[in-house]
Amino acid sequence: MIDEEAVIQVFCMDCKVFRPFTRDDMTTLAEKVGRDYSLVNRRCRCRLTPGCNGWNRFMFLNGVMRHLADNEHFDRWISSD
Ligand SMILES: [Zn+2]
Repeated sequence: MIDEEAVIQVFCMDCKVFRPFTRDDMTTLAEKVGRDYSLVNRRCRCRLTPGCNGWNRFMFLNGVMRHLADNEHFDRWISSD
Protein backbone atom coordinates (compact mmCIF):
# COMPACT_ATOMS: atom_id res chain seq x y z
CA MET A 1 0.00 0.00 0.00
CA ILE A 2 2.88 2.31 0.74
CA ASP A 3 4.45 1.58 -2.62
CA GLU A 4 1.17 1.92 -4.48
CA GLU A 5 0.62 5.35 -2.95
CA ALA A 6 -2.87 4.35 -1.95
CA VAL A 7 -5.16 7.08 -0.70
CA ILE A 8 -6.45 5.96 2.68
CA GLN A 9 -8.66 7.76 5.10
CA VAL A 10 -9.39 6.84 8.66
CA PHE A 11 -12.60 7.77 10.38
CA CYS A 12 -14.48 7.18 13.60
CA MET A 13 -18.23 6.56 13.75
CA ASP A 14 -18.41 7.79 17.34
CA CYS A 15 -16.58 11.10 17.38
CA LYS A 16 -17.14 11.65 13.62
CA VAL A 17 -13.54 12.60 13.06
CA PHE A 18 -12.20 12.01 9.58
CA ARG A 19 -8.64 12.44 8.51
CA PRO A 20 -6.24 11.21 5.87
CA PHE A 21 -4.13 8.23 6.83
CA THR A 22 -0.84 9.69 5.71
CA ARG A 23 2.27 8.13 4.31
CA ASP A 24 3.94 8.79 7.66
CA ASP A 25 1.13 6.91 9.42
CA MET A 26 1.58 4.00 7.04
CA THR A 27 5.31 3.97 7.52
CA THR A 28 4.95 4.08 11.31
CA LEU A 29 2.44 1.24 11.17
CA ALA A 30 4.64 -0.78 8.80
CA GLU A 31 7.59 -0.43 11.18
CA LYS A 32 5.39 -1.75 13.97
CA VAL A 33 3.53 -4.58 12.26
CA GLY A 34 5.51 -5.23 9.09
CA ARG A 35 5.00 -4.15 5.51
CA ASP A 36 2.80 -7.12 4.65
CA TYR A 37 0.12 -6.02 7.07
CA SER A 38 -3.16 -5.16 5.40
CA LEU A 39 -5.73 -2.63 6.54
CA VAL A 40 -8.51 -4.53 4.80
CA ASN A 41 -11.20 -5.47 7.29
CA ARG A 42 -9.21 -3.98 10.14
CA ARG A 43 -10.29 -1.58 12.76
CA CYS A 44 -8.73 -0.25 15.89
CA ARG A 45 -9.77 1.70 18.93
CA CYS A 46 -10.15 5.38 18.22
CA ARG A 47 -6.86 7.23 18.06
CA LEU A 48 -8.36 10.39 16.63
CA THR A 49 -9.93 11.79 19.77
CA PRO A 50 -8.47 11.24 23.25
CA GLY A 51 -10.99 9.45 25.46
CA CYS A 52 -13.19 8.26 22.56
CA ASN A 53 -14.12 4.57 22.76
CA GLY A 54 -15.26 4.28 19.15
CA TRP A 55 -13.68 2.21 16.43
CA ASN A 56 -11.53 3.64 13.70
CA ARG A 57 -12.16 2.26 10.24
CA PHE A 58 -10.33 2.74 7.01
CA MET A 59 -11.53 3.81 3.61
CA PHE A 60 -9.82 3.37 0.31
CA LEU A 61 -10.07 5.73 -2.64
CA ASN A 62 -9.63 3.60 -5.70
CA GLY A 63 -9.15 6.42 -8.18
CA VAL A 64 -12.03 5.35 -10.42
CA MET A 65 -15.69 6.25 -10.49
CA ARG A 66 -17.86 3.43 -9.28
CA HIS A 67 -21.39 2.92 -10.55
CA LEU A 68 -23.96 4.04 -8.03
CA ALA A 69 -26.12 1.05 -8.75
CA ASP A 70 -26.06 -2.54 -7.67
CA ASN A 71 -25.49 -5.40 -10.10
CA GLU A 72 -29.14 -6.26 -10.38
CA HIS A 73 -30.04 -2.78 -11.61
CA PHE A 74 -27.00 -2.49 -13.78
CA ASP A 75 -27.69 -5.80 -15.53
CA ARG A 76 -31.31 -4.76 -16.10
CA TRP A 77 -30.23 -1.47 -17.65
CA ILE A 78 -27.77 -3.17 -19.94
CA SER A 79 -30.28 -5.76 -21.16
CA SER A 80 -32.97 -3.11 -21.75
CA ASP A 81 -30.72 -0.84 -23.82
ZN1 LIG B 1 -13.45 8.45 17.99
